[in-house]
Amino acid sequence: MRNGYVLWFTGLSGSGKTTIATKLELKLRDMGTLVERLDGDILRETICKDLGFTKEDRIINIERTGFIAELLSRNGVQTLVSLISPYSDSREKLKNRIANFYEIYVHCPIEYCIARDVKGLYTKALQNKTPNFTGVTDIYEVPRQPDLTIDTHQESVEESVNRVLEFLYSKHLILPSWTKEEFV
Ligand code: ADP
Repeated sequence: MRNGYVLWFTGLSGSGKTTIATKLELKLRDMGTLVERLDGDILRETICKDLGFTKEDRIINIERTGFIAELLSRNGVQTLVSLISPYSDSREKLKNRIANFYEIYVHCPIEYCIARDVKGLYTKALQNKTPNFTGVTDIYEVPRQPDLTIDTHQESVEESVNRVLEFLYSKHLILPSWTKEEFV
């Protein structure tokens, strides 16, 4: 069995983490690989339902997600995490602990995220209706040394997904020749 890994997508709300991870998941599945996606919004509706948005709670949110990602990846699952995860220290702790952990900075300047306003959350935050909203009323610590940075305001979704695939190829985490038939 091939080793698992964790691709940890971090970035502002609306930067493109979920979009990229969702498309990548489909592509990887198509290659016949074991893949799982841990999405921040879904985790907050389930195992992190009890958590709010204070620094303390956000740290717990990152820790719990990291714990599951570690379990999956060490059992050979290609694990895609899309979580704002605003704190460098929390991310770096996971990076130091989890084998094959790659931090992917999904970079998109906040003015573009505001213009996208995928979930209408920025409008609310800018009207001071949402305390602790990352990038507006709460901090986001830019990754110091990400393994990959994707500038989603400058390229299409397809191009961004391809950049992650190229990254995976470059790390020999997937092989360009992989097809379903070859894998089974
Ligand atoms: P996040 O998960 O980071 O909160 P989403 O993936 O939900 O963000 O939303 C990102 C939005 O930006 C989507 O509407 C998506 O179509 C758009 N978008 C435009 N270009 C890109 C790109 N290169 N990569 C990812 N998303 C992009």
